[in-house]
Amino acid sequence: MLIILFGSVFVYIYYLKEKKEQLDAIKRGFCPKCHKKSIELTDKRSGGCSGPQMLSFECMECGYHNHFAVQNPGSCSS
Ligand SMILES: [Zn+2]
Repeated sequence: MLIILFGSVFVYIYYLKEKKEQLDAIKRGFCPKCHKKSIELTDKRSGGCSGPQMLSFECMECGYHNHFAVQNPGSCSS
């Protein structure tokens, strides 16, 4: 039971790490899959004032697409 728990936590951390690396690549302006500067923001939706923003990206070159939940602090502070 403990092994399964550790295993799933490890997988989850690994998944988050990989997701973060992909987001970093996208933020620098290139596709994490084919490494071409053909990544585009296709959708952007807010989950309310305190919620994270959902950003959808798609690569025009290789068809890679992914979405990320990004925290936007202070968006409703004013
Ligand atoms: Zn690509």
